[in-house]
Amino acid sequence: MADPQTPKVEADAPPAKPAQTPQAGRPVPHGKWQEVADTPKKADVPAGMWMRCPSCEAMVFRKQVEQNLWVCPECEYHWRIGADARVAQLCDPDSFEPMWTDLKPTDALGFVDMQPYKERLEAQHKKTGEHDAAMCGVGFIKGRRAVLACLDSRFMMGSMGYIVGEKLTRSIELATAQDLPLIIVSCSGGARMQESSISLMQMAKTSAALAALDDAGGLFISVLTDPTTGGVTASFAMLGDVIIAEPKALIGFAGPRVIANTVRQELPEGFQRSEHLLEKGFVDRVVHRHDLRREIGRLIDYAGK
Ligand SMILES: [Zn+2]
Repeated sequence: MADPQTPKVEADAPPAKPAQTPQAGRPVPHGKWQEVADTPKKADVPAGMWMRCPSCEAMVFRKQVEQNLWVCPECEYHWRIGADARVAQLCDPDSFEPMWTDLKPTDALGFVDMQPYKERLEAQHKKTGEHDAAMCGVGFIKGRRAVLACLDSRFMMGSMGYIVGEKLTRSIELATAQDLPLIIVSCSGGARMQESSISLMQMAKTSAALAALDDAGGLFISVLTDPTTGGVTASFAMLGDVIIAEPKALIGFAGPRVIANTVRQELPEGFQRSEHLLEKGFVDRVVHRHDLRREIGRLIDYAGK
């Protein structure tokens, strides 16, 4: 696990401009995919420097934002954080044991878009130090033992390929076998197009494992963060017994621009944002990042786990 003191954050994604969803099995224009995959890293300023909030545009002190769990002290904007920072925020100190860290993705299809998939994987590994976009394991949240799986937007936009699906499925099965509460924190552009139908199969695989968890009377708390889109929304992320969302997170299947162009109608205010989904019943509660740990602990107690 990387040093939780220096999480890399993509501070460059303003909420008003959600990226297009990369969906496997659907041709995505190269430029659009690239936009999602390699978001420009304007936020890569050295530690101890000032940074600009993409929401209120205030200049904020980086250290202060970090101490504030990567929430803007001026406007409550929630920055995207990596899986390591998420684990550090949610778990009791040093209680998280990462599992299945040796699983590495392969390029079964020999996929080439702008860059061979194999090279892309190597570049992403170099950039993040991770083998894929999921960090899974067992830890304690406010003293409650739980299986925790976090998707990592730094690695190919948190997209779900075979390894992500496999690690999530193993996490779900572990929660089922040991009767532990399961928490999955989603942060993903959807299924990974470079793995085509193999990535789509992960939707069925994770959903089937969750059905078995449900039959066994397990508890699954799904936490949706910015962004949760595509095949992730269409599978495990929406199957939580309780679905929590961080404020103003983009949550949807296809991107809003695609929908607006398809239905040829103006979309309602706040469309595909947490608060709108709460109003429409897709999300059970919107929880500020500061309260997430406490809320998860409360729900585990409430479910008697
Ligand atoms: Zn702000």
